[in-house]
Amino acid sequence: MKYWSGVQNIFVSLVVMRVLGLARSFHSPSSPASRTPVKLFSTKPENIAIVGGGLGGLSTAYHLRQALGQDVHITIFDKCNVGEGGASSVAGGLLHPFSPKGKLINLGLEGLESTNNLLEAAKKHNPDCILRDRLFRIALSEKNVDQLKLTAELHPEYATWLEPDDLEKACGTSALGGIALENGCYVIHVTSYLQGLWEAVRTMSPEKSTWQIVDPDTDWKETLASFDTAIFSAGSGLFHDEIFQKDAQDFPVELVRGQSAEMHLESDASYPNEAILCGKYMTPLPDPNKVLIGATHEYKSEPLDELGVLDELKKRSYDISPFVWEEGKLDRVTIGYRVQSRRGKFGRIPIIGKSKHNDVHPNSFLFTGLSARGLIYHGIYGQILSRMVVENDETSVLEDYPDISWWK
Ligand SMILES: Cc1cc2nc3c(=O)[nH]c(=O)nc-3n(C[C@H](O)[C@H](O)[C@H](O)COP(=O)(O)OP(=O)(O)OC[C@H]3O[C@@H](n4cnc5c(N)ncnc54)[C@H](O)[C@@H]3O)c2cc1C
Repeated sequence: MKYWSGVQNIFVSLVVMRVLGLARSFHSPSSPASRTPVKLFSTKPENIAIVGGGLGGLSTAYHLRQALGQDVHITIFDKCNVGEGGASSVAGGLLHPFSPKGKLINLGLEGLESTNNLLEAAKKHNPDCILRDRLFRIALSEKNVDQLKLTAELHPEYATWLEPDDLEKACGTSALGGIALENGCYVIHVTSYLQGLWEAVRTMSPEKSTWQIVDPDTDWKETLASFDTAIFSAGSGLFHDEIFQKDAQDFPVELVRGQSAEMHLESDASYPNEAILCGKYMTPLPDPNKVLIGATHEYKSEPLDELGVLDELKKRSYDISPFVWEEGKLDRVTIGYRVQSRRGKFGRIPIIGKSKHNDVHPNSFLFTGLSARGLIYHGIYGQILSRMVVENDETSVLEDYPDISWWK
């Protein structure tokens, strides 16, 4: 009897789904649902390829492993070892949910929670991936003071206003005051974090988790032919290496170069030793005698040379710590590219979803455009993308997050 009512339920569900499917096919041509191929009776993916294992690719891998369990094969194809490639490997590591003007960004708190969950998972394998459990944004003008005081007033659980004396005691720099960002806001060593996150994916299913190093000129059509699903999250490599044979201009994104200076100090005695932001940033590295100063925003095709980089960084960060600029020795200049999405009504939000450019693989998804918000957004957007992949259909996700198809 119980068995028979179960069968009846399944039958009724199938009829309802069929009717819904027909209803969907009568949507107006401009509705997102009608543009997306609807697969009613899809099967779950079993063999997934992810091209690019930076913040975007690894967050997606983790959420897919959690959703689909140990039996799904997840292969990450990357040009580099874990944590050593792309923008992620040169990021400042600053995690917080506010815009430069101190406004809470769209999905900022959901993003913070999601990234904190990923950090918990990564920390089990790499406890040193968190460098500081707070950071400081300082005010350099009266306008900044008003903006940051408002942030502290509206979001007291994350931001605390500090008058100049208190700011100096807390982080060694004075300015006109500033906010301390805490309670889930962190300074992360992104390379160590990604290594920890990959370990978390791998230990859930060691036999079915593969990291494969590839050449930039890989024939992707051939390489991905045996996979049922392909996710493209290769950061600027998507365009520089012509993975889709497409240019960044074919998407609502532009590539913005970021160069940073790693400085070495003979002793850490006078260095502020905290992460401080004011347009540019000065942030600690795992070695206590080293500090990272970042980053340029370069739109021109020719990169700034070393002197040009130091000049731009010094102009905007000298006041954070004159000591670092006077006494520090340059170890190296690092370079990376932000894939910066076009600004819309919610600011710069990432690009996720079924790819129209499926000439490489018939079932492809895209994850790019993390802009300068990789840490706050990779968790939540990787989570949403993995739901699309599991459902093999964007419809229900678009009902919950209608703005996510902004780029289509
Ligand atoms: C200088 C700088 C500082 C930043 N600081 C911060 C910060 O403090 N906080 C913050 O939230 N965000 C920061 N960002 C932004 C953040 O780094 C990015 O948003 C984020 O790293 C993008 O992640 P991604 O996975 O999309 O791309 P990427 O990090 O670029 O990862 C792409 C991956 O794909 C691989 N790949 C590339 N080409 C190929 C190919 N042809 N085949 C296979 N694999 C390939 C790469 O090796 C890499 O592993 C910064 C960015 C820059 C440039």
